[in-house]
Amino acid sequence: MEVAIVGGGIGGLTTAIGLHKIGIKAHIYEQAPYFKPLGTGIGIGSNAMLALNELGVAHDILKSGMPLHDQQFLNANGKVMNTIDFRLLKNKFGEENIAIERSDLHQALFDAINPEYIHFNKKMTHFNQTKTDVTIHFNDQTSVKADYVIAADGIHSIFRQTLLPNSTPRYAGYTCWRGIAKIQNDVESHISSEAWSKDGRFGWAPLYNGYAYWFACINISKNDEYFKSLDQAAVAKQFSHYPKLVNRLINDTPDEYFLHHDIYDIKPLNNFIFNRICLLGDAAHATTPNMGQGAGQSIEDAYELMIALQETASIKEAFKQYNKKRVDKTRKVINLSRQIGWAAQWDNQFLITFRDSLFPLIPNTLLFKRLTFLFK
Ligand SMILES: Cc1cc2nc3c(=O)[nH]c(=O)nc-3n(C[C@H](O)[C@H](O)[C@H](O)COP(=O)(O)OP(=O)(O)OC[C@H]3O[C@@H](n4cnc5c(N)ncnc54)[C@H](O)[C@@H]3O)c2cc1C
Repeated sequence: MEVAIVGGGIGGLTTAIGLHKIGIKAHIYEQAPYFKPLGTGIGIGSNAMLALNELGVAHDILKSGMPLHDQQFLNANGKVMNTIDFRLLKNKFGEENIAIERSDLHQALFDAINPEYIHFNKKMTHFNQTKTDVTIHFNDQTSVKADYVIAADGIHSIFRQTLLPNSTPRYAGYTCWRGIAKIQNDVESHISSEAWSKDGRFGWAPLYNGYAYWFACINISKNDEYFKSLDQAAVAKQFSHYPKLVNRLINDTPDEYFLHHDIYDIKPLNNFIFNRICLLGDAAHATTPNMGQGAGQSIEDAYELMIALQETASIKEAFKQYNKKRVDKTRKVINLSRQIGWAAQWDNQFLITFRDSLFPLIPNTLLFKRLTFLFK
């Protein structure tokens, strides 16, 4: 059986690891010319760490991960409004919640795959599905035929947008800068933080190697040319109402680690399976980053697909089982993440006063409970 994976991001690589583990020698086709480990930081929740453990790669990833014990939510003055205790998740489910450089995560996944199964410089342009196979066409005029395809080609997935033309990404209403900067005894180990104010949201987390990952979001219409052009100093100015640490982290970020994106997700789909094509990762369920679950959910997809293939007699049944497991859960993530982003990005002072006085009253056991669906 020939299985092709289109897209060598976190979802595609993790899927290859799972399929190879059970003897299905799937090939990955990736548009990039070579493996280029770039990016800033990323949070990987304990639910995804559990899946990585089952896939046999958690140990290598943990080596470059910073275990997070608490997630703090601060108001505009830097006062802690509430905290999620990640140690409760660790104690209950057995895995750490970590912050990691995206390049370290990507490298660990890449290293776990025999390079003979990864094909670079293969940008898919279109595909043809028949009753018996799927042919994938690339921009170098080559093509491959596969019995089944795992479409892991990201939020702008050609597969998804060909199969469901209305499933275009939807803008969340805010734009986001991200970066990595050296810590100067001013970022606590094991604690990630997020501050909410009328003029934008700023979050940061320590990494294992003396650096910290940060993100900064403001409400603005999409594709704004002015905001696209801002450098570190100009972004720091946008966030000058926050404590000095914020300014320093932004200004100390090297150019190659200074990224800017508008934030999008997709409206939850009711189905990820289209005969011989299985949507996976952001191609199936891109979410806003407010729960730090986008990559985590693509990792869970890979794990559930592996389990379904082991537990069922045919790939068709496996796809059915995968669909049943993944559609509802990822819908909840997309919806909850969008809700969190909506409330965290409020810029109306009346609503902010209401939120900031109510949020500290929510028991953190309740915040913890809201996350337990991630482990089902
Ligand atoms: C600001 C921000 C912060 C985030 N923070 C977190 C976080 O803290 N935790 C978390 O879990 N997630 C986070 N995410 C989400 C996370 O980055 C994604 O969910 C994750 O990368 C999805 O992986 P993927 O493999 O499905 O897609 P991608 O990473 O997008 O990979 C898709 C791959 O397919 C390739 N490709 C695309 N089109 C083609 C084609 N036509 N032919 C061949 N190859 C193709 C691409 O080159 C790419 O390598 C964040 C996202 C953003 C925007």
